[in-house]
Amino acid sequence: MSVQTSKVPCRSCGSLNLRRFLDLGVTPLADALVRPDKVGEPEDRFPLEVAFCPDCTLTQILEEVPPQKLFVDNYLYFSSFSDHLLAHSERHADWLIDARNLGPDSLVVELASNDGYLLKNFVDRDIPVLGIDPAPDQAAAANAAGIRTLERFFGDEMARELRDAGHTADVIIANNVLAHVPDINGFVAGMATLLADDGLITVENPYVRELVDRREFDTIYHEHYCYYSCTSIDRLMQRHGLFLNDVEFFHNLHGGTLRWHIGHQNVRTERALEYLAAEEESGLNHFDYYSAFADTVEGVRKQLLGLLQDLKSQGASIAAYGAAAKGSTLLNYVGIETDLVDFVVDRNTHKQGTFMPGTNQPVLAPRALIERRPDYVLLLAWNFAEEIMAQQREYLEGGGKFIVPVPAPEIVGG
Ligand SMILES: [Zn+2]
Repeated sequence: MSVQTSKVPCRSCGSLNLRRFLDLGVTPLADALVRPDKVGEPEDRFPLEVAFCPDCTLTQILEEVPPQKLFVDNYLYFSSFSDHLLAHSERHADWLIDARNLGPDSLVVELASNDGYLLKNFVDRDIPVLGIDPAPDQAAAANAAGIRTLERFFGDEMARELRDAGHTADVIIANNVLAHVPDINGFVAGMATLLADDGLITVENPYVRELVDRREFDTIYHEHYCYYSCTSIDRLMQRHGLFLNDVEFFHNLHGGTLRWHIGHQNVRTERALEYLAAEEESGLNHFDYYSAFADTVEGVRKQLLGLLQDLKSQGASIAAYGAAAKGSTLLNYVGIETDLVDFVVDRNTHKQGTFMPGTNQPVLAPRALIERRPDYVLLLAWNFAEEIMAQQREYLEGGGKFIVPVPAPEIVGG
């Protein structure tokens, strides 16, 4: 594929100099699990191409599927199904309560609060919270659990309404949402409007450096409009009078997650300065860093497909673990249909009984690994590898093996 510039403007800075570096084909929406009565019917498909902005360094996809299609209709991600994420969230809440001296007069706002898994930690300590999430089932689950949640898309207009009603946030938390927002300037303007003068915003998001270095191409799908670095986030924030002041990195969360600390004042820690300097030094702020990625990804695709075909020709049976968006992206991009992988298991009861988009494997409960005993399980949810393998000790002890697809296909266990 030849590198070319695009007529689509950059989502952050509006530049028309975007340079495309990866084309993952025309794929169904990765979260659009198919209900049994719809199997075999045509699915919506959209191009999946990735580009780099040389002007503000933001990596992004070129297609814009309306968010209503992605996060409201049939959105089935419930955060509370991951023990690892729950523990991570509890530690984050404890730290915030302590570091920001939060109490009954404080307000903690979470954007994309899902089923309230994180805000629950504040509610348990009598700290007022407000969750905002457009997904109706998740917002309803949170409200039912006593976590005040508004079922809305967040942006500057909503922030002004809240501010006019007398609310300012001492803490705003936005975890794994900024990638999901098409109008990032409106979203960040809203955060600036709602944040108290001395307030703190923490934002968690996967790191584009890990995406490239660890070949996590399956984290690219239509729900993820943007792929951030510290530099691109800082430039976005500064446009709205906000500053990136500290950076943390969690190696084992979602394949490498950054947490940015952001506020109205420019008070950068040494650590933040080091991250920004390292990004410039490593080349992450320049197109060359990304230009070879398409060949790398094609290499992984061929390797994985070859491995599965070899195992299958030796008579092995293969299942997969993780009916999440990245699993769907991997199955569709690599071309893994029901002739190679028979079924997919997932712990999320809302997903069981559906079928994978595009490739049509049925989604079953994890106990199917014990009942049906496939020889291999392709680990689509590799970001939860440790957690899943610990849960599947019985399968492993019975001789089962996992195949971890990235950074390079590898067989584990047995
Ligand atoms: Zn830009």
